[in-house]
Amino acid sequence: MTNTVTIPTPKTGPAPFPIPTDLWIGGKWVESATKKRVDVFDPSTGKKITDVADCDASDALAAVDAADAAAAAWAATTPRQRAEILRKCYEQIVANIEWLAYLISLENGKALPDARAEVLYSAEFYRWYAEECCHVLGELAMAPASGARIMVQYQPIGIALLITPWNYPAAMATRKIAPALAAGCTVVLKPATETPLTALAVAQIMHDCGVPAGVVNVVTTSKASPLSKAVLHDPRVRKISFTGSTPVGRALLHEAADQVISCAMELGGNAPFIVCKDANLNDALDGAMLAKMRNSGEACTAANRFYVHKDIYKPFTDGMVARMSAIKLGEATDPESTLGPMVNEKAVAKIAELVDDAVAKGAKLLLGGQRLNRPGYYYPPTVLADVPDNADMMKEEIFGPVVSLQSFDDEEEAIRKANDTEYGLAAYVYTQDLKRGLKICEKLEAGMLGLNRGLMSDPAAPFGGVKQSGLGREGSHHGLIEFCEIKYIATNW
Ligand code: NAP
Repeated sequence: MTNTVTIPTPKTGPAPFPIPTDLWIGGKWVESATKKRVDVFDPSTGKKITDVADCDASDALAAVDAADAAAAAWAATTPRQRAEILRKCYEQIVANIEWLAYLISLENGKALPDARAEVLYSAEFYRWYAEECCHVLGELAMAPASGARIMVQYQPIGIALLITPWNYPAAMATRKIAPALAAGCTVVLKPATETPLTALAVAQIMHDCGVPAGVVNVVTTSKASPLSKAVLHDPRVRKISFTGSTPVGRALLHEAADQVISCAMELGGNAPFIVCKDANLNDALDGAMLAKMRNSGEACTAANRFYVHKDIYKPFTDGMVARMSAIKLGEATDPESTLGPMVNEKAVAKIAELVDDAVAKGAKLLLGGQRLNRPGYYYPPTVLADVPDNADMMKEEIFGPVVSLQSFDDEEEAIRKANDTEYGLAAYVYTQDLKRGLKICEKLEAGMLGLNRGLMSDPAAPFGGVKQSGLGREGSHHGLIEFCEIKYIATNW
């Protein structure tokens, strides 16, 4: 008998099935060999929702066995066959948007509008890769000296270990699963301990859409390190695609080195948001709110440091205070809320520590800044002005609803400060002068730039960072090629 949890019914109707809480291996829900369970909490109340299997390395290796058993047949399917299954996944995720959004809000704590946006974003990876997998073209060239033929083919790289964080429980999984399956790979997914239910629900939906047994396997555990170590030392595994913090990414890169496993790393960020003196104030404020507050500020692309030209610093600061004051903080599944709780106690404590540190070093607290005295893990919308360079939040990810502002005199200074970080994921620039904006973009050390845009994520665009924000790209054609091996055939005819 499979363990399941029935989630409360959102107003729009019940989930089509109770959410299984066991391991998804070889097309079956199975209990962990450990028989252990790990609790899943609702950050809005701090109360337990349910528990899921707490597996160990032996379960994970059973998932690798299942992925291996399914690999040859899946790789032999035609692109069109894979495309049609992926397209069906897109349609089913969209059809189930309301209860999937509710489930995400429940376990992650993001407000329903953010959760709905995530469901659509996560579905789009299936649609994009359904289209993209029919366009993996090879190359044919004549060798310059000999005239022999150079043929290049893209083949599935092999079994992939996918490890995802809690901040986008659906999208970080589908951003990896869809391109992996499109390329012809089979996968073992390990979702975050805080938010396993969404990934388990997605596995069930994919099965119902015709994904064959063993092609997608999902294992949940509270002991990620021994699990990834065992999987990365299995010679059948040829890829790790990880999204999460930079320190864990570094550790996994070391681990992957032993078997020389291909690594895609989507790691932390510390995005600067530069507002030039000629920016359209309203557009910049709208973009700033999107870049800062999307997903409760718990996004790797979140604007972490605002650098605003001194001539518009005052109106921009006033505008941010007004907009942040209008946010409705409440339980994530309350339809009235526009901001839910943070994911857990550790996250709230970290934000409080960063805010206290900035204030102690001279930042001006204009809004919020105090933890709320209520059950659950809430931190209020907060605005800090004149944050000094030596404040910890200028170096570390805030990962919460805190706006950190500083003024600048000239652009070169803003660019220098923006680049003064080990991270290089995202950066934003607002100006009405396109020439100025493009010049600044070219000088910013980031994998992704938002030029007069507060949102850059798009399944059709290459998502990823430079410096210590990661290696490789997800989304776009590049995201599929990450799951391919390049084969060169030298021939004559
Ligand atoms: P995390 O602590 O690095 O965890 C991410 C995943 O790795 C979780 O599934 C976690 O499992 C697992 N993990 C933790 N320690 C591990 C280890 N030693 N070996 C193998 N796996 C391990 O990150 P997080 O707190 O969940 O997520 C927030 C971070 O992700 C932020 O830094 C954010 O910027 C980054 N992020 C980056 C992107 C991007 O695209 N660049 C997107 C989203 C988030 P447990 O849950 O069991 O600990």
